Amino acid sequence: MDHTTVGIIGGGPAGLLLARLLHNSGIDCVVLESRDRAYVEQRQRAGILEQSTVDVLRGSGAAERLDREGLVHDGIELRWNRRAQRIDFPALTGGRRVWVYAQTEVVKDLIALQTAGGAPLLFEARVTAVAGADTDRPVVHYTHQGQDKTLSCDYVVGCDGFHGVTRKAIPDGACRTFERVYPYSWFGILADVPPSCDELIYAHSPRGFALHSMRSTTVSRLYLQVANGTDPADWPDERIWDELDARFALDGGWRLERGPITSKAVLPMRSSVTEPMRWGRVFLAGDAAHIVPPTGAKGLNLAVSDVVVLARAFARLQDTGSAELLDAYSDTCLRRVWRAEHFSYFMTTTLHTDPGQSDFETRLQISQLDRIAASPHAAAELAGNYAGLTIE
Ligand SMILES: Cc1cc2nc3c(=O)[nH]c(=O)nc-3n(C[C@H](O)[C@H](O)[C@H](O)COP(=O)(O)OP(=O)(O)OC[C@H]3O[C@@H](n4cnc5c(N)ncnc54)[C@H](O)[C@@H]3O)c2cc1C
Repeated sequence: MDHTTVGIIGGGPAGLLLARLLHNSGIDCVVLESRDRAYVEQRQRAGILEQSTVDVLRGSGAAERLDREGLVHDGIELRWNRRAQRIDFPALTGGRRVWVYAQTEVVKDLIALQTAGGAPLLFEARVTAVAGADTDRPVVHYTHQGQDKTLSCDYVVGCDGFHGVTRKAIPDGACRTFERVYPYSWFGILADVPPSCDELIYAHSPRGFALHSMRSTTVSRLYLQVANGTDPADWPDERIWDELDARFALDGGWRLERGPITSKAVLPMRSSVTEPMRWGRVFLAGDAAHIVPPTGAKGLNLAVSDVVVLARAFARLQDTGSAELLDAYSDTCLRRVWRAEHFSYFMTTTLHTDPGQSDFETRLQISQLDRIAASPHAAAELAGNYAGLTIE
């Protein structure tokens, strides 16, 4: 049976960055990823990197292309009642900002580094079970190239996302999951058209929420709030553009550029946290431990902060023999996770229209948005959370 110090399950952003950080500290690890490389590199997901995430990628040597191609954003625009309000991040946070750089590109950069001399990374290696989480030698069972294999580890880290297998290694009763499922979804499109705005636009409207984002100077990413169970086939391109136009409408006019739509997908919205994020020698990181609705742009950034805390703890263990930081891992991460959960919930419930929403509740949303526009303190609270906290 093969052996490694840290067995990492999942080659998404959490698993790949953890491998990079451990490798930089001289700690042995292996990444097992169930999908093939092309699939992992094409999977459309997040696109906003917080200041701390960019700092971490730079520090780990993975930001060369990000620094060349990433778009620095100094704010976002909120729209409601046909008016607009800009939130200036650096002015309100003492200089913090965000970067538009797609998760697919972060993943490509990390894979390129790992295959050029980093820790072993096995694609099409599907983990079927993790055994012995409460022993000194947990074992990962996986299939690779048609064969059943095992990897014994000093520690196992589940970076295998919300539907992964690692969480199942934790016995019932040893952890608790807190969850909220939202009564609406996001319908996301990619379009080959330059963005119609310089910064992201988050729009509250009587027709439901809309977001104008971008992947680059030539590709726009747009989202519409839709009912759960929506079939993209019911949304021909013209209907999508007309609906976006209606939701972004401003007094005084505003023009949304249209272009060929290259991808359509419906994304359900969920908040979920599993506590603690460790059991025995098995740790959970990223979406394996928590999910946020994408309205706060926090999912990818939380995955990054988890593995920074974990890599630091493994380095401390290696350098000093002290497990103090490893033992504190779950509590340290959960403080940030719950802050991000609250912010994502706040952004979601302030900007979306619940199907059963009363006029009273709509007035409360408008009042909250008016407050953000009128009060530098309220705007700073939003900006600080959006641009992201420093990593503890
Ligand atoms: C459809 C979708 C759209 C999203 N859009 C946004 C967005 O617009 N904005 C935003 O901020 N966030 C978004 N998110 C959230 C963000 O992308 C995630 O928070 C981020 O991907 C978390 O990274 P991760 O590495 O923890 O998990 P993942 O990226 O899910 O990676 C987990 C990896 O584990 C692998 N894996 C799973 N099971 C096994 C197994 N048994 N054996 C081996 N490998 C396994 C998977 O193939 C995957 O590569 C989106 C998420 C989803 C699912």
